[in-house]
Amino acid sequence: MQLLKMKLHWQILIALVLAVIFGYYFENQIAYVAWMGELFLRALKMIIIPLILSSIISGVTSMGSSKNLGRLGVKTISYYIITSLLAISTGLFLVNIIKPGVGVDMGFAQKVEGLAETTGSVSDIFVRMIPENVIKAMVEGNILAIIFFSILFGYFITRVKNSYKEKLTNFFDAVFEVMMKLTMFIIKFTPFGIFGIVAKEVARNSDQLMSIAGSMGIYMLTVIIALSIHAFITLPLLTRFIGKAKPFKHFRNMASPLLTAFSTSSSSATLPLTIDAVENNSGVSNKITSFTLPLGATINMDGTALYECVAAMFIAQVYGIEMSVTQQALVVITALLASIGAAGIPMAGLVMITVILTAVNLPLEGVGLILAVDRILDMYRTSINVWSDSCGAVIIAKSEKEKLKV
Ligand code: ASP
Repeated sequence: MQLLKMKLHWQILIALVLAVIFGYYFENQIAYVAWMGELFLRALKMIIIPLILSSIISGVTSMGSSKNLGRLGVKTISYYIITSLLAISTGLFLVNIIKPGVGVDMGFAQKVEGLAETTGSVSDIFVRMIPENVIKAMVEGNILAIIFFSILFGYFITRVKNSYKEKLTNFFDAVFEVMMKLTMFIIKFTPFGIFGIVAKEVARNSDQLMSIAGSMGIYMLTVIIALSIHAFITLPLLTRFIGKAKPFKHFRNMASPLLTAFSTSSSSATLPLTIDAVENNSGVSNKITSFTLPLGATINMDGTALYECVAAMFIAQVYGIEMSVTQQALVVITALLASIGAAGIPMAGLVMITVILTAVNLPLEGVGLILAVDRILDMYRTSINVWSDSCGAVIIAKSEKEKLKV
């Protein structure tokens, strides 16, 4: 009983520790607990599309006028681009100083099946944003397309005659309320879900991880240090000086979604918890969160952007390819676009690296080099993606003169 009264993030933390121990020592019994993770992830995925749809539509209609929508849109997108570029620059700087790829044993490279089919081009990212068929986009979980449609739909609700406008606005507000109540219900099971997910991952990778970590250690360290600088220096400074808010108090408020992002490696699956924490713990209004957070979970991925850049440069270093300044600039731009195009699901960033490699003519097989350690880095970069979204919501709310709890 006492356990249930404990704050959610402590419950999650305990679940994480127990999961690591369980996964490591009871590898053969993992099926007894893995189902909890499966159920939890399915429940989160179940609510993502209706949640995104209703939250963006209700967010856009609540802005009232196109002027408000435009202002908030410009602020949000500017924040996303600026922070992603700052993240990429941090990664680029460190990868050039540490040079983790110099002298790495190529024997670790793994063969990647079907690489040619997964490669996409930069223009694809934008083309896919406009759905040919909205229902198909929902079935396939093409979130970028769903967001695009929801923004337009919400905007045009405000342009129809008052009696329709009221009905539709009320309807989507009501759906959103229900989705949030459902979210709160699912969130209660987070510790169990995370226990199941993490125990399974640990059991699967335990023996392999140690040996790979040894040879890929410097590369992993470069990514981790760069991500940490972005998370604990750059973003807090922006939150403090541009947002005039308390970054570390906000960080504590975000403990549950950050741990969930870490455990699930999915910004989209974490979105319900992110909305809950930013709204209820840090006090950002529903008007801001319902617009910025679903958008951020899909297009604002600072961690992924940084990772894309470091990984591409690492591959170049391993293959002994000198990157000119122009080529590095191209890596920066494509890393930004790849992070926008990456879906908020596990290992999406890994697939997007092929976009960069193609753009700067690096060998595609390079992906095989970083495959083994991608999952573990994915956990950390996903948390940074979510952390940046939440800081963005706080900064934008403050700029709109909202009174927050941070
Ligand atoms: N897993 C990340 C996310 O959901 C995306 C990536 O693979 O970088 O935010």
